Amino acid sequence: MLGNLLKILRQISEIIAKTSDYDYTLSQIVTVLAEDLSVDVCSVYEYDEKNNELILAATYGLSQESVKKVVMKPGEGLTGTSFKERRILNLANPQNHPKFKLFDFTGESRYNSFLSVPLTISGKCLGILTIQSVRNEEFEAPVADMVRSLSTQLANLILNTKILRGLQDVPQKPMKAQISTDQVMLRGAPTAQTTVLGNAFLFLKDDVFNSIEKVAVDDPEHELQLLEKALLLAKQKTLELEHKALAMISEADASIFNVHLMFLDDQTVLGKIRQYIRNDSFSLEYSIAQVFREFEQKFMQFTDQTFRDRSFDLKDVLLRVIEGAAIIKNTGDEAMVMSPESTKLVLVAHELLPSDLIRMPVDNIMGIVCEKGGATAHVSILAKALNIPAILGVKGVMEAIRDQDEILLDGHTGRVYVRPGDQVKDHFKDVLSNEKPSEERHESGPTLTTDGVDIRLNANISLICEISTLAKFGARAIGLYRTEFMYMVRDYIPSEEDQINVFSQIFKHTQNEVTIRVLDVGGDKPLPYIPMPHEDNPALGYRGIRLLLDRKSLFKAHLRAILRAASPGKLRLLFPMVSIIGELLEIRQILQEVEDELHEKNIPHAENYKIGVMLEVPSVLFTLDSMLPHVDFMSVGTNDLLQYTFAIDRASESVGSHADPLDPAFVRIIKHIGDFFKRYPDKEITVCGEMANVTQGIPLLIGAGIRELSMPPKFIPKVAQVVKKINSAECRILLDKAIRLNTAAEVKSEVNRFLLASVRPL
Ligand code: PEP
Ligand code: MG
Repeated sequence: MLGNLLKILRQISEIIAKTSDYDYTLSQIVTVLAEDLSVDVCSVYEYDEKNNELILAATYGLSQESVKKVVMKPGEGLTGTSFKERRILNLANPQNHPKFKLFDFTGESRYNSFLSVPLTISGKCLGILTIQSVRNEEFEAPVADMVRSLSTQLANLILNTKILRGLQDVPQKPMKAQISTDQVMLRGAPTAQTTVLGNAFLFLKDDVFNSIEKVAVDDPEHELQLLEKALLLAKQKTLELEHKALAMISEADASIFNVHLMFLDDQTVLGKIRQYIRNDSFSLEYSIAQVFREFEQKFMQFTDQTFRDRSFDLKDVLLRVIEGAAIIKNTGDEAMVMSPESTKLVLVAHELLPSDLIRMPVDNIMGIVCEKGGATAHVSILAKALNIPAILGVKGVMEAIRDQDEILLDGHTGRVYVRPGDQVKDHFKDVLSNEKPSEERHESGPTLTTDGVDIRLNANISLICEISTLAKFGARAIGLYRTEFMYMVRDYIPSEEDQINVFSQIFKHTQNEVTIRVLDVGGDKPLPYIPMPHEDNPALGYRGIRLLLDRKSLFKAHLRAILRAASPGKLRLLFPMVSIIGELLEIRQILQEVEDELHEKNIPHAENYKIGVMLEVPSVLFTLDSMLPHVDFMSVGTNDLLQYTFAIDRASESVGSHADPLDPAFVRIIKHIGDFFKRYPDKEITVCGEMANVTQGIPLLIGAGIRELSMPPKFIPKVAQVVKKINSAECRILLDKAIRLNTAAEVKSEVNRFLLASVRPL
């Protein structure tokens, strides 16, 4: 199927590259799709935002007379319903559906099956792709999956084609004002205790093109040949990037690079570059910079952010062409690949999304500085997963830093030195060279306290590629796999098959237990392609299990994928943000339905898996007795439990760091949980929030009877060292003392005294 998909995608790209007539392009595409998918009808309906209506833009199979004449409002007919609800409809006998509306003159009355897929990019629905067939049955899952995968590509192509073809000339922007060149020091929240030095790469605001000088060439023909060679090299590099992204992050898909390839084939862009070279004898670099500036202006005219964001892709790809030309000029060797070691960049951004990071040449990125976000925001988790130190929530960073400025990040204090002077660099000289990550392997056996209690130290991972670090850091199992990245790095809901591919890799790489947490998005982690209500308090709103229970087909496909992929492995299935027993019962009911369906179809799937909920909403603390009979385990999410207990927004730059797991109120909560679980020895309790790797938190958790902690893998050796020095019975006494103290500071010094005494030789 994949081969077929790639073939169709390539055909679509070729059509787009060859033709400049948009309507003709679309009509060619629907013809190719209908033929390759062996269906009777394939149509594209485009959404006209101005008039709030869907218009039949191209069709294969319906009457050509109806093109541009079939018009419907969102919610009208099946296509309108699919658009309004952003849902895929796959129906046999569509005429029996209550929303069915016949557009007689199209000739569609003879078709007995109907599949519609929204064409969505970053939450924006551009239209609907439909296929129809005379056969009276739903389209089979592989066809539906293929259409869904194609829909994203098609939406991308429609969006780009529209942008490129429809842009109007506008005056240029004034040049950027000069800013200071003095050393500046800023502060933020660090994600890693690492110090790095590199050159700023301004994301969003950088303007490398401004530094390209206006140069005339003597031989435009030669320059044109150089352009063709550089384009080939840029294509090669784009394909390499695509492979790299997939190898590095299995959760990602590489559709973004298809957009880049399309830019490299686009005749409007290339035509203009060639025109500058041929007519004005400008150098390749200057011609590209000119064309980019023109297009950037046009992109910025769009009110829609999705459209504006495409300028970054164009910039990215044009820079790759310039880089390609530089390689050819310097070496004459077109086959040479661009060295990823060539630069050491510190990525500076106002706001960075996980998908942004995947687009970056992460090998070159030494560090990240970001104006928005706190230490537990998801981009920080991704940066940690990729081993890139970041400092987030750095106010004023975009104003203070220019492209290429030298920047030193001190992860110990959260300081960002912009254009550091010699004195500062000298001060950090030794730390910079010493802080290479350790390649040393750590033992993976049991981690015993001095009185022989085994504390299982597990790994929290967000990316499959992190599995390789498990053995290195001595993790016993995967204590938390956050599934959300697979969803966050895409522009569409990953299909069941996409998900199976990702999840199976986990079970292929580890024989140990794996805790997979189902999708925890919404609230402060929106998915652009799922319509979210506007909420004043998103952290208290439509997120986690609330969203999944509301989107049952998404939830069921997700569960099916996990159960199918886990059939050979040891699975613990974890549900986030459960706050009332009713949600838990509904989850169990849905799981049962999913299992029954899989049984019925004889599809192999996990059967003896464990079910657990995150203990991260305070209401659960008071309903443990009614919830526990319905689960095998619970996992304490201290990040959210702190947020909801203290009413402190965990992502807030101003108050996020005030939530302290060592506050006596929280320590009492931990004791309450531990005491409760002692009454239910057959139920497992684990901690997977950040408290599990806070040195002073460890003896308190062990004192509460918690025997399993899960954390980012690299913290495991440090935590193991602490565990091996302490006595669990003494931890219990320490906990009893700590709950009687008044402040977090008092708890900290009590625990510090305890730790010091524990390391003293007897
Ligand atoms: C938590 O809330 O502590 C947790 C582990 O989950 P996340 O940080 O992904 O919300
Ligand atoms: Mg949580």
